[in-house]
Order: sequence, then structure tokens, then C-alpha cells
Amino acid sequence: MSAQIIDGKAVAARVRAQVAEEVKAFTDEHGRAPGLATILVGDDPASAVYVGGKQKASAEVGIEGFSHAIPGDAPEDDVAALIEQLNADERVSGILCQLPVPDHMDGVRLTGLIDAKKDVDGLTPESAGLLALGREGLRPCTPLGCMVLLEEAGVRLEGAEAVVIGRSNLFGKPMAQLLLQANATVTTCHSRTRDLPAVTRRADVLIAAVGRAEMVRGDWVKPGAIVIDVGMNRTQDCLVGDVAFEEVREVASAITPVPGGVGPMTIACLLRNTLLAAEAAMDAVA
Ligand code: NAP
Repeated sequence: MSAQIIDGKAVAARVRAQVAEEVKAFTDEHGRAPGLATILVGDDPASAVYVGGKQKASAEVGIEGFSHAIPGDAPEDDVAALIEQLNADERVSGILCQLPVPDHMDGVRLTGLIDAKKDVDGLTPESAGLLALGREGLRPCTPLGCMVLLEEAGVRLEGAEAVVIGRSNLFGKPMAQLLLQANATVTTCHSRTRDLPAVTRRADVLIAAVGRAEMVRGDWVKPGAIVIDVGMNRTQDCLVGDVAFEEVREVASAITPVPGGVGPMTIACLLRNTLLAAEAAMDAVA
């Protein structure tokens, strides 16, 4: 069997086109565009590239950008004060504080200061709580992107055995919650999981977010499983996922490639979250 390749690039392009249309309708109706504020602290080159990509993508769909850069040696309270100011700014629908922040700052405290209604990354304790309770709220972009890919691939999650490798706050935990809400039977694995391949072989839907190049081998996968590879591992000359793609594609029924799978969905979902936040803010004042 050779698996269907789930084309995240194409799905993300469709999501972005849809967001662009809805942003235009929003702007026509309200006389201003949804706004996304980005905060970049310090001069980490990778963070600068990520933030630049998000700003460019939001401009392309008509979202207004407010970009803020803070020197890496600034006091944490400068970032806190900026977040408070953006919370109060009506033009700003969404706020994104790029992580990691420099070591002398507490990234969890800082993201926790973002108003949950503007938390387009879905990472504040309030957003995490709403997700855990199954209440409406903004969801973290990468797990949300995986849910969109599963839906686009026509995967039936109800009753399915889903295994998530990784339990980070950024990805693994919210991913497991979203799958649970979709009525999958969910197992979350981590570095202390005993006999990981035995667990992954049970999965109808296997999602890997570990950060270890090609860790998931062909014989870890149940024939016909759906495999979503979140990993992004830079080798000397390319980007590879957490899944040994060539081996696993011979066993799985569908698989996301790296690059071109989950990656493009993260930004697409950020744009969608910004639009949703802008619409909710307008509904709240109506
Ligand atoms: P993270 O915070 O480092 O978490 C990694 C998780 O993997 C942890 O829960 C860890 O377990 C688990 N783990 C580590 N070694 C393991 C092993 N040998 N067996 C089983 N589990 C193991 O990373 P993250 O932020 O979740 O990201 C994971 C990967 O996804 C990275 O490659 C990252 O670049 C990628 N990512 C991609 C996107 C995207 O947009 N495509 C977005 C986010 C993340 P413990 O908890 O026990 O330590």
C-alpha cells in the first residue's frame, strides 16, 4: 500500500483564501480590518523569521499588522506593559507574543497576560481551561491545523483509537483534548512511556510531535492508519519530520509530508483565529 499524501499546503491555501474573503467582508462592514499585533522580544533569528512569516501572511489576507520589537535585555515589565496596552487597543483583535522569550523573562506569565479574547495562539491559561472544559474559545493553531487536515482527509474520529506522541502545552495536550472532543479514544505518550511502538501500533490515527528526526518507523504503525507528522527537525541539508516518511507511507493509508503538511496549517489557523477574534469582539459590542 502507498499512502494518500495529505497536502497541507493545498489545504492551507484554501483556508487562507476563505479567510481573505471573510476579512474583506468584515472590513467592508465595519470600516476597518481585523488587527494582529505581534511581539518579538530579543534578536533570535528563528523567532524573527517566524514572526516575519506571520506578518506577511496576515497582510496577504488583509489583516492589519501592528508589529512590536522589544530589545532582549529589556525588563519583563516592559513586555507586560505593552501587552496591557494592546489588550486595551480596539484596533487589535489578536495578540501574539513569540516564544521563547529571553531567559530572564517568564514566558508563561507574559502569555497569561494576554486577554483570552485576543489570544489567537490559544495558549493562555484561560484558553487552555476553556478547551479542557469543552467551552468555546480560541484554540492553539497547530493542533487546530491537524484537526482541519483530518477533516479534509475525511477521517472519522468518532470511536477511533488516537495516539499522540508528545505532551507539550503547545501541542500534545491541546491536541489530545481536541481529539477527545471529537469522540476519539485518546492515548498520550511521552518520554517515559513504556514500549512506545506497542502503543503506537494500536493507533487508527497516530500524531507525532516529539522533535526527533524519523523516530516513528514503519513497524510502529498499524496497517491503514492515518499518520500526522508535526515534527520539524532540521538536518544538515533538509527539514525532516518525526516520522520515517518513506517507510511509513508503505503501511499507512494517509500521511502528512514534512515539509508541506502540518507546517502551513499553523499560520492558516492563526489567520482564522484572528478573524474569529475580530468577529467576536464586534458581536460583543453589538
Ligand atoms: P516539546 O515541548 O519539546 O515536547 C516534546 C514531547 O516529546 C515531550 O512531551 C516529550 O516527553 C516527548 N518525547 C521526547 N522524547 C521522546 C521519546 N523518546 N519518546 C516519546 N516521547 C518523547 O516539543 P513541541 O513544542 O511539542 O514540538 C514537538 C515537535 O513539533 C518539534 O519538532 C517542533 O518543531 C514541532 N512543532 C511544529 C509545529 C508546526 O507548526 N509544524 C508547531 C509546533 C511544534 P516529556 O514530556 O516526557 O519530556
